[in-house]
Amino acid sequence: MLLNISILGPQASGKGTQARILKKRFNFFYVEMGALLREIAKENSPLGKRVNKIVNQEGILVSDDVIELVLEKKLSGVKSDQGIIFDGFPRISSQIKNLNKILSKLGRKFDLVVFIDLPDELVYERISGRRICSKCGLIYNIANLSDSDKEKCQSCGGKLIIRKDDQEEKIERRLRIFKKETLPVINLYREKKMLREVDGTGSIEEVAKEIEGIIKSKS
Ligand SMILES: [Zn+2]
Repeated sequence: MLLNISILGPQASGKGTQARILKKRFNFFYVEMGALLREIAKENSPLGKRVNKIVNQEGILVSDDVIELVLEKKLSGVKSDQGIIFDGFPRISSQIKNLNKILSKLGRKFDLVVFIDLPDELVYERISGRRICSKCGLIYNIANLSDSDKEKCQSCGGKLIIRKDDQEEKIERRLRIFKKETLPVINLYREKKMLREVDGTGSIEEVAKEIEGIIKSKS
C-alpha cells in the first residue's frame, strides 16, 4: 500500500482507533505527532534536547520547523513500498506545507484525507461517559456498565474516576480549537477534492469497513 494519507476528526471520533486498524490492515507506517515528539524527546541529540524542552513545558506550541525536522528524521527510514498514515496531522493549515515538503523530499506525494465527522453532542456524550481506573488506568464507558459496576474497576477493584482531560470545559475547549484550527485544513482538502468524509456515529467496525472501502478504491 503506497498511499500517504491522513485521518482527521474531532476528539472521540475514533480516528486514533481507525488509524491503528488501517495500519494493521494495510501495513501503513503510523505517525502520531504527540507520541513521535515524546519519542524524539528521549534521544540524546541536539534535536532531542530541543524537543524535550518543548514537550516538558506546557502551553508551548511546537513550531513548524521543529515538526519538519522531526518528521524528516522519522520518515526517511520508511521503506519505499510502505504507505504512511498520519493520525491527526496536519492539525493546522501551516502544517500542510510541512507535510508536502517532507513527502516530496522522500519522493512521495500526499493522496488523501479521511475526515471522520461526529456531531458535537455525540462528542460530549462519548467523552463524558468515559471513566478511568485510578489504580490500573483501564478505560471504561459508563454506558456499557451496569449500575453496580459504575464505581469500581472490574479488573483490579480501583475507583473509577473522570480524567482531568475529560471534564466538560476541557472537551469544549478542544472542540473549539478543532473548529478554529483543523476545520480550515479539512475545508482546504475538500476544495482540492482530496477529502473523503465518513460518518463517525457508527460502530468501530462499521466505520472501519467504510474507510477500508475508500482506501481500496484509491489503490
Ligand atoms: Zn483497575
